[in-house]
Amino acid sequence: MKKYKRYLITSALPYANGPLHIGHLAGVYVPSDIFTRYLRLKGEDVISVCGSDEHGVPITLKARNEGVTPKEIVDRYHAINKKAFEDFGIAFNIYSRTSNKIHYETASDFFLKLYNKGEFTEKTTAQYYDEEAGCFLADRYIMGTCPHCGNESAYGDQCEKCGTSLSPSDLINPQSTISGSKPVLKETLHWYLPLDKYEPWLKKWILEDHKEWKTNVYGQCKSWLDQGLQPRAVSRDLDWGVPVPVKNAQGKVLYVWFDAPIGYISATKELTPEWEKYWKDSETKMIHFIGKDNIVFHCIIFPSMLRAEGTFILPENVPANEFLNLENDKISTSRNWAVWLHEYLADFPGKQDVLRYSLCASAPETKDNDFTWKEFQSRNNSELVAILGNFVNRTLVLTNNYYDGRVPQPGKTGPDDESALKEIAQIRERVENSLDSFRFREALKEAMSLARLGNKYLADSEPWKAIRTDPERVKTIMYIALQITANLTVILEPFLPFSMEKLRSWLNIDRLNWDNAGKTDLLKEGHMINKPGLLFEKIEDEEITRQIDKLMASKKAKEAAAGNIVPAKSSVTFDEFSKIDIRTATVLEAEKVPRTTKLLKLKIDTGTDIRTIVSGIAEYFEPQDIIGKQISIVANLEPRKIKGIESKGMILMAEDKDGKLVLVSPADKVGNGSIIK
Ligand SMILES: [Zn+2]
Repeated sequence: MKKYKRYLITSALPYANGPLHIGHLAGVYVPSDIFTRYLRLKGEDVISVCGSDEHGVPITLKARNEGVTPKEIVDRYHAINKKAFEDFGIAFNIYSRTSNKIHYETASDFFLKLYNKGEFTEKTTAQYYDEEAGCFLADRYIMGTCPHCGNESAYGDQCEKCGTSLSPSDLINPQSTISGSKPVLKETLHWYLPLDKYEPWLKKWILEDHKEWKTNVYGQCKSWLDQGLQPRAVSRDLDWGVPVPVKNAQGKVLYVWFDAPIGYISATKELTPEWEKYWKDSETKMIHFIGKDNIVFHCIIFPSMLRAEGTFILPENVPANEFLNLENDKISTSRNWAVWLHEYLADFPGKQDVLRYSLCASAPETKDNDFTWKEFQSRNNSELVAILGNFVNRTLVLTNNYYDGRVPQPGKTGPDDESALKEIAQIRERVENSLDSFRFREALKEAMSLARLGNKYLADSEPWKAIRTDPERVKTIMYIALQITANLTVILEPFLPFSMEKLRSWLNIDRLNWDNAGKTDLLKEGHMINKPGLLFEKIEDEEITRQIDKLMASKKAKEAAAGNIVPAKSSVTFDEFSKIDIRTATVLEAEKVPRTTKLLKLKIDTGTDIRTIVSGIAEYFEPQDIIGKQISIVANLEPRKIKGIESKGMILMAEDKDGKLVLVSPADKVGNGSIIK
């Protein structure tokens, strides 16, 4: 294997339109953090860069829905997500953002370089334009009727009712969601990266030269390459993003997939003036940590961009994970089916490592995997508490009890002692092999086998019994148990940084580098240790039940809301609205219309006349309950005959999700005929 001088670790830039959940941690950030910490312990020259991806249509949409600017949205989530990473010990060297000036300059320069080299093709196409708002419409800004299922609120890229992918021209009666007007097709110029041109090179670079990539990554690349690549637009008509830095490009910005990966470069620039040695020296090993939805961007598109630019290195590996599910269901932000990091910390303060451990132990490395609260509890109680915590606690407590916290002088070792000592070095080797090939679940399992080894060693040698019969022997046992404990602070540091920091403080030692793993004299005899606390605490059933209940409750609430709130209607002008004569009136008489179940015949005082209205409310009101009530009516609805009775107007009712009807009455009594406006 080639030896590199330095490492550049990138982690997918999270999109700044929402908070982070466990799926993000499990898929990208826990593995990238473990790997980075491991390299740092080995003394490698390594930097880890990340930041917020702050452009793109979903952010502008969310801003519009909330009535704020896109800047306010990204400022909010950048701060929340940066804090969540810090809280969970995800140790980036920098957490930057793509709205920074340095990124605008870097992305602009990158585009210009490709533009000047003639790497783009230009193409004019017809796209929907909102004449009232004066802008082109991204697919998500166009709504209309789905040609497949008739859903009237399908988006320009997808119908969320039947799930069909659409393009805006498929929609029947397309409508701009900005102004409500009917959009027109208008020609617009865009720049394209001709990916087809890079296809032969990509085929060799990935399919022949990188057979070692994870099978899920390699397989997805192969399938893209087998289908054949198409030119891809790098610009969009939008007012939020990095402006396209050439003439004739007013109102155009870089497409978010083009600008986001350049964010890795600008973050490095922001971090260090020596950024070029990390990006332009073939002695640097670049590794992209991402989720599977990002494979095409990091394995095909970004490398093509870098190749077109010509001076940058390419990633050596792209260890993408599959998706994490939650309690047997897909994690979904819109359905609030997620465990949000900030909520987890509020519910389990100080238990960052328990989540890190649990997510790594069931990471979706080769296929989608499931997170369940029950498994989380069992990982904590039967692994972290019962094995690791128990071993550490016994060792430290006994050392304090027997020797006042002083590391004892070992005596002669027997075969059991020798084999335990030998295994420490073997465990280190196995952990290294797994980490070097990005098998983090396996690495964690191997690392935990050191705690298992210690636990078994103590259980087999029973120092608490031997102390009465053979105190000299106990000195050897405790010496070895202490060396295993010190080794844990190295081997488990990448996985459980918070707990290992605690353990180091109890052992009264500084952080040890990776080279020390496997050594059997890390704590010298006579070294004083401190009194320990508890490394992990048991998690009770009630805490788990509460989490599951919380998920179920939010699922129910979302389902009720999603299924029954009628989508907003298209806008009307004030003139149109003011044509409707809505006013107060009082019910004078009410009786059931014979041979019907739903109809009441009402005599109404409208302030200007006494008239009859027939209303379909008999299932909800007895005649005597409604007489004397003040109500609201549409007074100028065209009269129509219902069951032979002429009905002049309509009573306004609110209808809830179950179809229940409620009268709309003025909050205080007013004169009949008062205008409602
Ligand atoms: Zn549909």
